[in-house]
Amino acid sequence: DGGKPKYRRILLKFSGEALIGEVGYGIDPKVVQQIALELRELNRIGIEIGLVVGGGNIFRGAGLAAVGMDRVTGDHMGMLATVMNALALQDALERLGIFCRVMSAIRINEVCEDYLRRRAIRHLEKGRLVIFAAGTGNPFFTTDTAASLRAIEIGAELLIKATKVDGVYSADPLVNPDAQFISRLSYDQVIERKLAVMDTTAIIMCRDHSLPLRVFDMHKAGALTHIVKGEDVGTLVSR
Ligand code: UDP
Repeated sequence: DGGKPKYRRILLKFSGEALIGEVGYGIDPKVVQQIALELRELNRIGIEIGLVVGGGNIFRGAGLAAVGMDRVTGDHMGMLATVMNALALQDALERLGIFCRVMSAIRINEVCEDYLRRRAIRHLEKGRLVIFAAGTGNPFFTTDTAASLRAIEIGAELLIKATKVDGVYSADPLVNPDAQFISRLSYDQVIERKLAVMDTTAIIMCRDHSLPLRVFDMHKAGALTHIVKGEDVGTLVSR
């Protein structure tokens, strides 16, 4: 299991839905524990880790707007949902002995730190895992876009998006059995072919700042470690 890591600083994004696990709604502590264990391994080999988690397991602004709520209020609820997920992850990570900070794009000082870029970088340099909560802090954005934004801000060398399937396919493999696996893509191919990788705003941010993106299946134990060692796991989106 040797091999020097290829990346020093990464940003990992997964959706809130990933935390639902077997409980049907909200946060499954077993899933959170599993994610924390995978992250402990990366932390152990010295990778600087930023994390962005979604909130779709609790609230999504668009979903609340669809049933009549004001969209901006719904988005505020969605962003607060990501803070809850971040706190659950922080708790699991700290119980495993990993130093960790939640930094929120919305000020909630009794609960976590504010996001300050320079302080976030300092935490990372000291080996603390940073969880970026509350998305971008603005309505009408997504946590995918928050992930590309924070990755660029902190100078992450790779953005890693965890999904339910082992990479990008020509169609949804969970629906269409003829879907073809695609191991490499350019940013423009993702946009032109309307592939469901991340939302377009996030992909364009990656493209304009030449931030490589890898999409992988987070249910595969050890996959993250293989990725940071430079192995070809999942799909790579790059220039
Ligand atoms: N959200 C927002 N601004 C952001 C990030 C998120 O308003 O910068 C809100 C939005 O309502 C979104 C919800 O937070 O639906 C949860 O985030 P997202 O849908 O990206 O979560 P995921 O699908 O990854 O679980």
